[in-house]
Parts: sequence; C-alpha cells; structure tokens
Amino acid sequence: MDFLQKMSETARGLQEKARELGDIAKEVTRKSGDLLEVTKLKYEMSRLEKEMENNLAGLGTVVYQKFRGAGDVDEEIDRLCQSTSRLEEEIKALDLQIQKLQPKTLTCTQCKADLPPGGKYCSFCGAAAPAEDGES
Ligand SMILES: [Zn+2]
Repeated sequence: MDFLQKMSETARGLQEKARELGDIAKEVTRKSGDLLEVTKLKYEMSRLEKEMENNLAGLGTVVYQKFRGAGDVDEEIDRLCQSTSRLEEEIKALDLQIQKLQPKTLTCTQCKADLPPGGKYCSFCGAAAPAEDGES
C-alpha cells in the first residue's frame, strides 16, 4: 500500500476514534461542561463577528474601488458577500447553541429584576420568585 494512503487512513481511523470518545465525554460532562462550553462558544462567536466586520469593511473598500472605476472587482465583491453570509449563518448557529446551553435566568414577576437560580424570594423587592420549570 502506498505510504501516504496508509498514513491518511490511519489518521482517519484515529479521527473516528477521537470523535467517539469525544461523544462519550461530552455526555458525561454535559452539565458541568456547559459553562465552559458557553465560554468557548462566545469566544468563537466574537471571533466570527470580528471576521464579519473585516469582511464588511473590505466590501466597502472594494465597492468604492468599483465606484472609482476599478474593473474586475465583482469577483471580489461576490467572494466577500458569500463569506459574510456564511459567517452570519455560523454566528446564528452559535447563538442558538449558547441559548440552549445557558441556564434560563429567572425574572422577578414584580420588579423584573434578574434573579439567581434557586432563590425563593426576589432580593430586590421581596416578592416570591417564580418557580423554575424543567428542573426539580
Ligand atoms: Zn422583585
């Protein structure tokens, strides 16, 4: 067998193993890992948002170049638009994941203050805290 082919097959096998193990680990540490996961996702999201800003700034420059009569920028405009819309989708997906992972914050029914989970009374106005649903 060709050496490179063998190498790539070994790598693929290892990748699959790693994925399996990753799935198991994810299941086990799901709860405790949620917070860390959210931090990671938020970090990734801000990275993508920066990238998107760069893209949009680049788009502005290229569009202005076109206005000034530079030819051959349509392809670049198209590339930037494609990449920006991809980024937008990714950011949306990340946002959704973050929302799923983050514990729901409770809001006081009286004064609308954010309440820490587990409290029975609002620490601002003393009203009874709403019941946490989904957990008991
Ligand atoms: Zn309150």
